[in-house]
Formats: sequence, structure tokens, C-alpha cells
Amino acid sequence: MANDTGDLLALARRSVEVIAEFQDVGGAYVASPTFSVYQFSWFRDGAFIADAMSRVGAADSAERFFGWCAKVLAARRHQINDLVARKGGPIHRDEFLPTRYTLAGGDTGEHWWDFQTDGYGTWMWALWQHTLRHGTSAEPYRDAVELCTRYVSAFWNLPCFDWWEEFPDCVHTSTLSSLHAGLSAAVAMGVLEPQTAATAGQGCIDIERRLLANSIVDGRLRKAESRPDIDASLIACFTPFATFEPTSPLARNTYARILTDLAPDGVHRYLDDTYFGGGRWVVLAGLVGWHEAATGHAERAMGRLRWMHAQATPDGLLPEQVHMHALHPERVDEWINKWGPVATPLLWSHAMYLTLGEALGLWDVTLAASEESS
Ligand code: BGC
Repeated sequence: MANDTGDLLALARRSVEVIAEFQDVGGAYVASPTFSVYQFSWFRDGAFIADAMSRVGAADSAERFFGWCAKVLAARRHQINDLVARKGGPIHRDEFLPTRYTLAGGDTGEHWWDFQTDGYGTWMWALWQHTLRHGTSAEPYRDAVELCTRYVSAFWNLPCFDWWEEFPDCVHTSTLSSLHAGLSAAVAMGVLEPQTAATAGQGCIDIERRLLANSIVDGRLRKAESRPDIDASLIACFTPFATFEPTSPLARNTYARILTDLAPDGVHRYLDDTYFGGGRWVVLAGLVGWHEAATGHAERAMGRLRWMHAQATPDGLLPEQVHMHALHPERVDEWINKWGPVATPLLWSHAMYLTLGEALGLWDVTLAASEESS
């Protein structure tokens, strides 16, 4: 386990290197270069990866990803316009925008658990954050933000697959929060047509109302409207998305339940998770740690960063999850047999390592520059 900041910093530098290495020339980030079904680019993973790269000063990398998103959306203009025009009528799940794209921005040609909306919100949130951090303009993304906002405004309230690409018949709390963050960001960037901005603003109000009405149980958030259980991704509703105040009683109760049920060091997704047995996720250690760092629990957050560091391979690669303490150990092998060992490196894990260290003040926006000059 890392016992000095030098070790922690070395993995941060390595993380920048790994992410840069596996960013395609066109800007897409591959989810994992070595895990066959992850050799594609997700808006969800990519948004968090770009956000991390932006935080550590690799603005160019983040902008290349945002530019890739913009191209993907522009190429689907007719599909988006057609879908929005048919809003309220019958639309089959497979007709919506996909979740994974080839690095060139095309269809993968393979079946996936498509129709997940959260990533389309998260990338707009990450873009907005980037413009604030680096003082850059959102103008080059005007067209893509307009298209994406119209899509999200039209379909935020439909059931869809969640962050974990499961339970398509539910309306998921973390998904709604991601979409709320995206719509708020789109409005804040000031690049929308007036009517689109008004609809997006109303969408934010409606999402908040819906969350308050249907997503709370025992004073804490629940995984989905039809599922009272806890899910670690719920922490994103407070940090970073701030749909609800990170220090509110709702946040405290939700965090407390995540802590007792899911988050000893690395963090499980939810108690019934059987994917690779339901291991402890590096991504989620970063996300929960980020909330801890933001709410006055720096020591706990530091513990998570050290745990993340301890999961790196000798050549500094972070996995998606570790199944040593899987919730359902009897279900580990079936996934290894199906898809091979756990995805390593997972770029999103490296991103959350960078983000958590930055939130803790261990490195900052100069990290990538010092990486280039070292
Ligand atoms: C996770 C998703 C992630 C994808 C690619 C899936 O197993 O559940 O959240 O986007 O892997 O990393």
C-alpha cells in the first residue's frame, strides 16, 4: 500500500499516460483496450475521463473527447430529429441513440444493453465544468449541445438501462441526476436556442420534482423508483452533480447507508450485483471518496485513494473491480469464462483516481504539464 505521496503521485502520472495512450486520434476514449466488449467508447465513461483530464490540465485531451461527442451527435441529427418528432408515440428501445460507439463514432454492429440516457447528460455537465475551469468558450459545441439537449429534454422520463446497463424497465435515480446535471449545464453554457433553453429549464424542475416524489425512502435516495435498495452511484446525486445539497440530511442518510452496506474500502455497486460476483469497484471508490473529500471526511477519502492505489498492477494499471471480496463469489467464474479476466486497465478507474487525488489537493491542474516535461 502506498505510504507516501510520491507513490500516489507516480500512479497519477501513470494514469495520465494510460488515458492519453488509449485515446483514439479522433478523440474517443476506449473504455478498456484489453477487454473485448469494452473496446468501444461510452459517453458515460468518457465524460468522467475527460473531466479528470481537464482537472489535471490535459485540456487538449478533454476537448478532443468533447469534439468527438459533438461529431457523433451531429452525424445523428436526423435520427435525433425524427425521435424527438415522435415523442409520446411508440418508439422501440433499439431506435434510440446507442450507449457504446466504435472509436470512429459508428455503430458497433453488436447487440448491447442500449438505450441508456445518463451519458448524454454527463458529457454536457463535463463540458460545462471544463469551460468554467479553463475559461474556454462553449461556442464550438453549440450545435451538439442543442441537439443533445433536445434529445434529453424529450426522453429523460422514460425507463432505460441504468449506469450499470441493467434493469431497463425502471426509472433510475442516478440516471435522472445525470440528466438534471446535463440540462442545467446546457442552460448555463448559454448556447441554446431560447425555446430549447426554456424546455431544458422546465425539464430540470420536473426532474427535481420527480426525484423528490418518487426516489426517496427512509430519508435517503433509492436506486430506482421501483427499487428501494441502495446503489453506490447514488452518491453522484450529491457529488459531483449537486442535484441535492451534498451536506443535506438526504445526502447524509444516503451516504451513511452506502457506507454501511457497500463501501468498506473499495465500493460495491449494489448488494444484489452478480457481475464478476459483485466485486469492489475502483471507479466507485473514487466517486465515494470524492464526496467524502467534499464533505469534510478527507481522511476517509485518503483511505479510498490508497486502496485504489493498492489495486494497481505492477505496471500501474487499474482494474474495473476486484473480486477478492465479491458479494457473490460463486458468480465470478461464469464471467471470467464468458469475457475473460476483469477489464484492466479501465480508463474510467484511472480517471477517478486522478479526480479523487485532485479533490484531496494532492495534485492539480499542472499535473499533466509536469508529466509532459518530465
Ligand atoms: C459498467 C458501465 C460502464 C461499462 C464500460 C460496464 O460494466 O457497468 O458503467 O460504462 O462497463 O466501462
